[in-house]
Amino acid sequence: MEFRCVEECSDCCVKREYYPNKQFGKIGVLILPDEKEKIEKIAEDNKIKIKILPRIGVSENPNQLPTEILAYQLIGIEDNGNTCPFLDTKSGQKSTHGGYPCKIYKTKPLACSAYPLIESNPITLDEKCKFCKECGTANQNLEFETESLLKIKNNMQTNASHIWRYATGIGESEDKEIIKKGWILEE
Ligand code: SF4
Ligand code: SF4
Repeated sequence: MEFRCVEECSDCCVKREYYPNKQFGKIGVLILPDEKEKIEKIAEDNKIKIKILPRIGVSENPNQLPTEILAYQLIGIEDNGNTCPFLDTKSGQKSTHGGYPCKIYKTKPLACSAYPLIESNPITLDEKCKFCKECGTANQNLEFETESLLKIKNNMQTNASHIWRYATGIGESEDKEIIKKGWILEE
């Protein structure tokens, strides 16, 4: 089946999830180190306020905080972490499939271009994507997504001994007691 966004859907630009669990808070859009400056500049030029936090870091020593950051994340604008700052929810314009448009569509992060593909071999789509919920999986019309996913994977390869994940401290108000903030060493 061919992948096509569901009419009027903007879920992946709005809904943010706890990952890998609630303790880590809600994640934002993955931003590679190479993309960070470009995204910050676009935001500044367009007077859009953004918040970028670290996401994945590495170190050689488990007692030492990350010495290198492999990925950052672009946090949503709502208190609960939802809604990308670049999503145009106000102008009334529509994307090609009738959802809210992305204000930086042509220069959006690679992670946005890869979505909903989370694995290319075998092709695996994120089950939270509305297309997947309604149609199951797809194996066609995913060339651009595949190329973007491979670029991300290549950029995030590491031989470092220890991987750290940054807990964002962001989520629903009823979860605040559980959510942590700061670097946590992966088991
Ligand atoms: S990728 Fe999926 S969740 Fe995102 S707009 Fe398309 S159908 Fe909706
Ligand atoms: S940068 Fe654009 S495509 Fe990516 S989440 Fe934000 S609004 Fe959506």
